[in-house]
Amino acid sequence: MKIPLQRAYYTGRETAVIREALQGPLGGGGRYLQKNTSWLEDRLAGSRVLMTTSATHALEMAALLLELQPGDEVIMPSFTFPSTANAVLLRGARPVFAEIGEETLNIDPGDIEKKITRSTRAIIPVHYGGVGCQMDIIMELAQSYGLYVIEDAAQAVNARYRGKPLGTWGHLGCYSFHGTKNYSCGEGGALLLNHGAAGLLAKSEIIWQKGTNRRAFLLGQTDRYTWMGVGSNYLPSELQMALLATQLEEIVTITNLRRQVFEYYTARLKTWVERGVIRTAGIPGDCESNYHLFYIRLRDERTRDTVMTKLRTQGIEAAFHFIPLHSSPMGKSLGYQPGDLPVTEEAARTLLRLPLYAGLTGDERDYVMDCLESILAELE
Ligand SMILES: *Cc1c(COP(=O)(O)O)cnc(C)c1O
Repeated sequence: MKIPLQRAYYTGRETAVIREALQGPLGGGGRYLQKNTSWLEDRLAGSRVLMTTSATHALEMAALLLELQPGDEVIMPSFTFPSTANAVLLRGARPVFAEIGEETLNIDPGDIEKKITRSTRAIIPVHYGGVGCQMDIIMELAQSYGLYVIEDAAQAVNARYRGKPLGTWGHLGCYSFHGTKNYSCGEGGALLLNHGAAGLLAKSEIIWQKGTNRRAFLLGQTDRYTWMGVGSNYLPSELQMALLATQLEEIVTITNLRRQVFEYYTARLKTWVERGVIRTAGIPGDCESNYHLFYIRLRDERTRDTVMTKLRTQGIEAAFHFIPLHSSPMGKSLGYQPGDLPVTEEAARTLLRLPLYAGLTGDERDYVMDCLESILAELE
């Protein structure tokens, strides 16, 4: 059997919807963009949504919007994807890497506070695997030090912390609809302007629409459109938005299918956890996950690599995550060294992700678990 790490889920209506989109202009800002915007805004009470070409671009928009500049520092985990840090670097500001906690592998609020200096402008918490950071504590910290919070909620669409959707806690939130995410249109994303950032809407629409007030023009608020300020082009095409609309309509089904895989793996691996052979991903009681990924942790790097290789030989695409940003070549050039963030480094050495996607069949789940269990038995 060949089982990839991820596979997009299709509803069967994609071709019809894309054919329909082909009837109209394909450029950004059309009917399907509006449809997805309303869909999200209806479910994210009080937040304004700008659909984007990716979460990477939503993060870049956030950095532009807050006018980050050389000399500014932004605190984020090192255990994340490079886009989180690139958005900051592109403005000439400095990413400052904070440690994560063992339970969720999310940024540790205690370490955020230790890393705040007079140059700190913002915090970017990342919700790993769709499990929320401790947003209440992070928002309190931000408030007492006068900092902005940009949530990298790329993996956290449709997940909640203390009942409130992730991406809506901070001033700004960034979603991804990339092909590897739960709900996807190949490449896509969204920027959320939340309570406290509503005043930034006009400015963000200018940044979004190539530095023009085209948005205000389309809304009939001005009789021509022109260059208003710095900006770029972050609009997704109608083809992407048509595809995304079919995914959002099936969001409950997709999430339930993913949850079933997550729960099945958890149940099958319970005794191995109890015997201390592995650890699995925890979901704290105040988090509602979207089941973006499932991982186990092995006792050391060698064991992890052995298990990964053996699974791959049997056609199962298991994978590690992430190479910590501070120990990457780019991180080193920023002055960081291996050893700076021990919890992060230990997670990166011992973590193994297993295939998790909505279309994973019962037989395939069994096969993944059968193979893994026999490999784990050999370890003992
Ligand atoms: C996927 C991901 C991104 C980038 O999302 P794109 O939509 O592919 O640009 C950023 N941050 C994190 C944590 C991610 O997982």
